[in-house]
Amino acid sequence: WRGEFPWSSLLKLHLSQTFGIRSFRPMQREIMCASLSGHDVFVLMPTGGGKSLCYQLPAVIGEGVTVVVSPLVSLIQDQVAHLEGNRVPASHLSGPYDQEHYRQTMSMARSGELKVLFITPEKIASSGALLGLLNDLRDRNMLDRFVVDEAHCVSSWGHDFRKDYIRLRCFKEMYPTVPIMALTATATARVSHDIRQQLRIPKCLVFKSSFNRPNLRYEVRKKSPKTVIDDITSLLGERFTGNDGRIQSGIIYCLSKKECEDVAGKLSRLKQRNGRKLSIRHYHAGQNHQEREETQLMWSNNEIQVIVATIAFGMGIDKPDVRFVIHYSLPKSLEGYLQESGRAGRDGRKSWCILYYNYGDSRRITFLLETGAKENNVTKEQQEHNRTALDAMRCYAEEQVQCRRVLLLNYFGEKFTKDKCRGTCDLCENNQGKSFHEKDMTEQAKSLVMVVNALRLRATRSYLIDVFRGSMAKKVLKYRDDKLQHHGAGKDLTKTEAERLLGKLLEQNVLEEQTYRQQNEFQSIGCRLLVNQCRASTVFNGMLKITLPYLST
Ligand code: ADP
Ligand code: ZN
Repeated sequence: WRGEFPWSSLLKLHLSQTFGIRSFRPMQREIMCASLSGHDVFVLMPTGGGKSLCYQLPAVIGEGVTVVVSPLVSLIQDQVAHLEGNRVPASHLSGPYDQEHYRQTMSMARSGELKVLFITPEKIASSGALLGLLNDLRDRNMLDRFVVDEAHCVSSWGHDFRKDYIRLRCFKEMYPTVPIMALTATATARVSHDIRQQLRIPKCLVFKSSFNRPNLRYEVRKKSPKTVIDDITSLLGERFTGNDGRIQSGIIYCLSKKECEDVAGKLSRLKQRNGRKLSIRHYHAGQNHQEREETQLMWSNNEIQVIVATIAFGMGIDKPDVRFVIHYSLPKSLEGYLQESGRAGRDGRKSWCILYYNYGDSRRITFLLETGAKENNVTKEQQEHNRTALDAMRCYAEEQVQCRRVLLLNYFGEKFTKDKCRGTCDLCENNQGKSFHEKDMTEQAKSLVMVVNALRLRATRSYLIDVFRGSMAKKVLKYRDDKLQHHGAGKDLTKTEAERLLGKLLEQNVLEEQTYRQQNEFQSIGCRLLVNQCRASTVFNGMLKITLPYLST
């Protein structure tokens, strides 16, 4: 996609004239050219990577209208304001609006005056007039492309599934010739596969950029209930106090509403170095809309410095100067953690992602997930998925040796090596100069591979680890997996070690993850492990040794 296209010079022109930007970021040009050539494209880029420009610029140089679906009215308002600020004709059909706005938007869209039309997914279902407009535009060759922003909302495996997004499959079904551009900052293979299936664009071009955020510092701190508040207090008072003596902008994520209120209450007594009291507020779904909106706005304007929130606080925040994201409690998944911690440092300046961890928190979440599953009739697959996700999160928190970035990025299928971290996570920093040794795990690896072979369809991550470590859980007995030859072969390994071993085998391509369509309401994508027999044979014949790093004492 690097060659010259008829629109190459137009792209360059509008990049600087309309958007005031000098050069493209990695992949932006390629993505635009692919879409302008009529391809369906799928864009995976981390928060702050510059996704919006990928559809805004093609929209400007097109003859017709670009229709953008976005999940939140507030997100849409920001985008419309941004485009209008650059004198690009844009409007929206979302949330409540008056007749005049509606009439004007429709007529501007029909005449082709409008370049970008934002809609929420509900409107597709609820507004016959909208479908009429789309048909009319299509018939006149004026429907340039559909854009699905925050596309992970279409997947029930994503962290923000929205039922109305399922309707978006109608784009490809009803308008097969109109190209689709789907964008997300979610990185898992399973979710991205699912998105392409749900939007009916399995053969689209995929553009995935690195999810590494070099300006973020990762750190896990031990959480002891008695001292955690003091610990946060001193972080705020020292590391996160700016030269003006004022505490910088940040988010503290908590698990429950009550926890938010508690933590905010305790920290509100804090005096800053400039003598003033810290301005801090909590934010959760138990508050009314107006209250939440006000808190978010005040925080965006720096009137509130620190916000203590549940994950209800999230999507659509694009404050550039968030200097820290602290997790007071363990998130439920690395997907969630990547997303939430990623809200720090959008401006590219050094910022911190700190996680407080103790084992009790992980048990507490297991309990919450289990009771939640009972109350809400959660499917077996979803429960399994939740368990696996939490296991991975726990591994990240408990890790002692490997680099945090490596753990995080490898989990999302990105090949990333420790040398690129350059001491910007706590483990790399602390382990600098210490010596490691590689422990030979080849025998355990062989057993693990045999268990995968034996379990076949049941070889999901967490179940595999259970059987490998000799679990006698009900499911194990039911399928008589306790009778397998290698049941319990890994009983001398801790769960974390077993998971590291599994991770290593995936990294070495001895094991592979395979996704498949599940027979449930959403036909979502399941995930199981397979043996790459060719790679595995190199382990069995001694050509490939499997080792894990340990800290030498
Ligand atoms: P995302 O949606 O991927 O989180 P945005 O589209 O909001 O990211 O872009 C993040 C910031 O980067 C915005 O302020 C945007 O104007 C800026 N940006 C995007 N592309 C470029 C570019 N090529 N050069 C400079 N700044 C850019
Ligand atoms: Zn590191």
